[in-house]
Amino acid sequence: MSNSTKYIFVTGGVTSSLGKGIISASLAKLLQARGYSVTIQKLDPYINIDPGTLNPYEHGECYVTNDGAETDLDLGHYERFLNVPTSQANNVTTGRIYQSVIEKERRGEFLGKTVQVIPHITDEIKERIQILGKSGQFDIVITEIGGTVGDIESLPYVEAVRQMMWEFDNDCLVIHLTLIPYLSAAGELKTKPTQHSVKQLLELGVQPDILCCRTEHPLDLNLRKKIAKFCNVSVNAVIESRDASSIYDVPLLMQEEELDKVVLEKLNLSSKATPNLDDWKSFLETLKNPKHEVNIGLVGKYVELKDSYKSISEAFIHAGVANECRVNLKWIHSEKITKDNVNEELSNLDGILVAPGFGSRGISGKIESVRFARENKVPFLGICLGMQCAVIEFARNVLGLKDAHTTEIAEDSKHPVISMMEEQKSISNMGGTMRLGAYKCELKPNSFTANAYHTEKIKERHRHRYEFNNEYLDQFENAGMIATGKNPESGLVEVVEIPSHPWFVGAQYHPEYKSTVAKPHPLFVAFVKASLENKK
Ligand code: GLN
Repeated sequence: MSNSTKYIFVTGGVTSSLGKGIISASLAKLLQARGYSVTIQKLDPYINIDPGTLNPYEHGECYVTNDGAETDLDLGHYERFLNVPTSQANNVTTGRIYQSVIEKERRGEFLGKTVQVIPHITDEIKERIQILGKSGQFDIVITEIGGTVGDIESLPYVEAVRQMMWEFDNDCLVIHLTLIPYLSAAGELKTKPTQHSVKQLLELGVQPDILCCRTEHPLDLNLRKKIAKFCNVSVNAVIESRDASSIYDVPLLMQEEELDKVVLEKLNLSSKATPNLDDWKSFLETLKNPKHEVNIGLVGKYVELKDSYKSISEAFIHAGVANECRVNLKWIHSEKITKDNVNEELSNLDGILVAPGFGSRGISGKIESVRFARENKVPFLGICLGMQCAVIEFARNVLGLKDAHTTEIAEDSKHPVISMMEEQKSISNMGGTMRLGAYKCELKPNSFTANAYHTEKIKERHRHRYEFNNEYLDQFENAGMIATGKNPESGLVEVVEIPSHPWFVGAQYHPEYKSTVAKPHPLFVAFVKASLENKK
């Protein structure tokens, strides 16, 4: 542990979607592989308090941490790369910054002063940036600033960075991620947008130390020299970031470009150890040379935007590697599945996953998909709403409770097999009223789930309002759907299974959030394995 924490800021220019999250996670991985303890945080310039109330079409998946924070999906990348849990402190939005400043103002903490963007909002941002650093757990904190430099809403963040660069001098560094577009008509890579973007940062008082240049073609030395000259950085600080076939290639590409070395030099940190990335490399080796292949259907209503199910698709990559198997995910729109076409749409699948979700859109397609998986003995994993659909399907088609439903959709259902916990009924505010974060769960010995985890005591992350209605539990169990996982304190049903099926599991929690490269999630590993066996 060094005396003081080092802060690395990652900004973006020219365009959004350059992959700041992956670059940040890759750099963190390289520094971690050298023996440093590193964490990454994301500052999001939007006014929502958190992404919990955002439609996935807006911002992709909402990622949930152990401490129950609803966060940006980049935190998922951070955990998947580093295998270290994140928390609420790792994601801050403008909404949260303002909320906190306004609450302080109401409490009179500003002693009659006029409350302003500078210094009050910027001080709050600086304080948030340093929470993780001051915890004493980390040598290095990487702070990714969402949005693109020049956006009105990111100005206070860039200003906070400028102030920290001034105050902490040798302990701070700025990496600016830009785009070097290729103009095919000219047959050339163009550096002007990068020059402009750096100028924009300079106008705000921030000189970047390192430029990470996204490009489709190699950057030759001349081009690097040109960029270096125009942007006041050293040539070795012009880092090429080529498009990669997998996000998991990026740490190795960044290592080839010596990004980690340049960072350590600039921060005056010694190179603690030669980075050990053996496990990472063997993961990639298997990822690229799989022995087997399976087709798994992901039935959901946000399939047009694949970021909506980011953690699930990544968990399949990890679980695929654990099975030496390529998982071909077939994205199936739940709204398009009907009783009439389900056989046709879901044939040729080796496994079926019914995705989490909210609201009624697409739910009947999800329920039909469960029926198909159950009746045709296709391995099935239902997550959250997917588990609830499995319960509803079983109630309707096996127990004969024709109008069984969840009270989320049919408030006056005669058979509310999924309903709201009593203590939640009084809460009407949409934000932050869910059962969120990690809860304990105890598994029945010899269940699919206990066999997958190799243990009976687990902790998994939740994000939902509705629950299995325990008044129906006996009926379900007598007919063959068993509650194999329960919360030891509340008795809430967390997992249902059908033991007479080859592999049928519904989880009220979200296993996908905990899957990492180093630790593929056991439930996904077991599901892929069952799908592989089903194929044979
Ligand atoms: N809408 C369901 C609930 O609130 C399921 C939520 C989810 O799938 N994340 O209980």
